[in-house]
Amino acid sequence: MSFLAKNYNRKKIAFSKGKGSFLITVKGDKYLDFVQGIAVNSLGHAHPKLIKTLNIQSKKIWHVSNAFLIPEGERLAKKIAQKTFADYVMFQNSGAEATEAAIKVARRYFYSIGKKNKNRILCIKNSFHGRTIAAIYASGSKKMTEGFGPKVNGFDHFNFGDHKSLKRLINKNTAAVMVETIMGEGGIKIIPDWCLKGLRKLCDKKKVLLILDEVQCGVGRSGDFFAFEKSKVKPDIVPIAKGIGGGFPIGAVLMNKKVASGMVAGTHGSTFGGNPLAMQIGNTVFDIISKKSFLNKVKKKSEYFLNQLVKIKKKYPSIIKEVRGRGFLIGLQLHKDQSTFIKNLMDNKLLTIRAAENVVRILPPLNVKKAELDLALKIIKKVCANY
Ligand SMILES: *Cc1c(COP(=O)(O)O)cnc(C)c1O
Repeated sequence: MSFLAKNYNRKKIAFSKGKGSFLITVKGDKYLDFVQGIAVNSLGHAHPKLIKTLNIQSKKIWHVSNAFLIPEGERLAKKIAQKTFADYVMFQNSGAEATEAAIKVARRYFYSIGKKNKNRILCIKNSFHGRTIAAIYASGSKKMTEGFGPKVNGFDHFNFGDHKSLKRLINKNTAAVMVETIMGEGGIKIIPDWCLKGLRKLCDKKKVLLILDEVQCGVGRSGDFFAFEKSKVKPDIVPIAKGIGGGFPIGAVLMNKKVASGMVAGTHGSTFGGNPLAMQIGNTVFDIISKKSFLNKVKKKSEYFLNQLVKIKKKYPSIIKEVRGRGFLIGLQLHKDQSTFIKNLMDNKLLTIRAAENVVRILPPLNVKKAELDLALKIIKKVCANY
């Protein structure tokens, strides 16, 4: 019997070892892991440089309070500021903490300029921003909020793609629009570049901040460091998490100078956020993923993979409705419930994970090898042929 709370519907399989794109079960079976902790192990399992960093840092210092300077975090923040839109970074430990802190930054900015009623956040209905009390009400999903009332006030919602209600719902009390650049849990739905541009313009016109939640789609997952880069849009606040730790829990809020001005000493804090061990790992992950040459490889490999998936879709149009995604954030939308398909893939030693709208989510590590992509394609073809 298990003494873990039953809040997960777990597959009856356990792993004892991982290497790159593969996982080995406790019984010794080998699986191609295209879940990677849900886009967390951006460099696969047991990356030698991450092991080295962890080993070296573990002998130096793990944790000190944010009451003191943390040079490892200063270094990572500086690199992020030099390579991205961000002027300042605030480190957290997880995605939900990062999205919540992003909301705090937005509200505090308007408070600091004397507009304390400008505090509402406009989000996409049934999006995903995490599981804390505020984040579930930001997501606006009935399933996630059921039984967790009273409702947290301060969030408004529009439907994905509904520009009319987006415009209508922005009022003088709106502080920010917060959306995922690519909806992950929601079924790998991309906000097109022209929409992002329009959204930025609208936010500027209405003097509202733009928060782009890149917890899942950021840190190289889309083929660019951020999924919004291709659109040339500059957001005000960007929460990141999943991929930046390469498997170590790290979250961060990136922000521009303007909004950072509200976050004066004492306005936010985290006991664990930005600790030296996490920061050293973050530095190593960032150094690898932020390289142009690395991202170019992600683009190339993922374009190949997506093209091959489209071919499979064309051969099996009655099974696969649509191939969605960009980079290595990929969804196969099926016509019907995807559970059996995912199970069949797993029976053939390929791990994938569900998303909304009957989507099979495929998340290879960013440094996946072409031969591993081909192995996955072979398994997907086989499962389609026998479906
Ligand atoms: C996973 C995710 C979160 C929440 O991250 P946790 O680390 O699970 O708290 C928030 N936003 C998006 C877009 C995510 O995909």
